[in-house]
Amino acid sequence: MHSEDSFIVEGKLALPYQYFAGRTGSKFLVTLRDQKKIMGVRCNKCEKVFIPPRSTCEKCFSNISENWVELKPTGTVTGFTVVRYEEPHQPIKPPYILALIKLDGADTPFPHIVKGVPISKMTTGLRVKAVFAKKTTSTIMDIDHFRPDQKPKVQIGYTYEELEIGMSASFTKTISETDVYLFAGISGDFNPMHLDEEFAKKTPFKTRIAHGALPQSLIAPVLGMKLPGLGTVALEITTRFKAPTYFGDTITATGEVIEKIEKKKWIKMSLTLTNQRGEIIGDGTALVMPPNRDLIKEEDV
Ligand SMILES: [Zn+2]
Repeated sequence: MHSEDSFIVEGKLALPYQYFAGRTGSKFLVTLRDQKKIMGVRCNKCEKVFIPPRSTCEKCFSNISENWVELKPTGTVTGFTVVRYEEPHQPIKPPYILALIKLDGADTPFPHIVKGVPISKMTTGLRVKAVFAKKTTSTIMDIDHFRPDQKPKVQIGYTYEELEIGMSASFTKTISETDVYLFAGISGDFNPMHLDEEFAKKTPFKTRIAHGALPQSLIAPVLGMKLPGLGTVALEITTRFKAPTYFGDTITATGEVIEKIEKKKWIKMSLTLTNQRGEIIGDGTALVMPPNRDLIKEEDV
């Protein structure tokens, strides 16, 4: 038969279908959807954890369909590709990074999308964390994507729960003439006993001394940067001045936790200012509100 004898009718078939994810796959997707938990299955014989879960161990063929283990939402990228072609079934518009991610606690990697890292900077070994979708689709896309899981650059200080009576921290600084002049400018206190040596000779101290608030201010780096540390709010600081600070003196400010105020979750600390001769030039107390992890997200700091 010659081709011109063929009679061709063009048409389209609608093909609705349902797909059963299987017992194991269903449990995986339902747990992901309802509890935002990523589950794997473990073969106790081979000591391997599989994800996506499967009912049979691919090594020893044991039935492992009931050995569920919860996996962490964090993992390491073991391989990746950049999808650049466009297809209607794709979950997002290309280009995007499709990576193999070995979740912590799993022995097999599974594929998913990585966002939050430029394509040119993408690398294997990258630590990533699952970002769950806001709207469920009852599919693997209930994990919307993975993004880099970097350690926060700055970590908040000790929380109320972490602080214990007796914990202490110090900060040391040598007070120079420049510090005193800068402090005069900052505070507006140009009292000649801090700035004019000839005038200061006639005072009981016989030479210039630093403003009292200058060594006192060394308490701030202790509370705000060391103990409790970043995120601390100072509520009250009292200081008694006991001896002058001369130019060139090295002052150490020390704070020590002396009381935990459970009702308010506040911390009371003793403060001591000591010079290089071991003399206490000032002491007092501080009442502080230590950082709270529920209020400060470390990645925002
Ligand atoms: Zn096995």
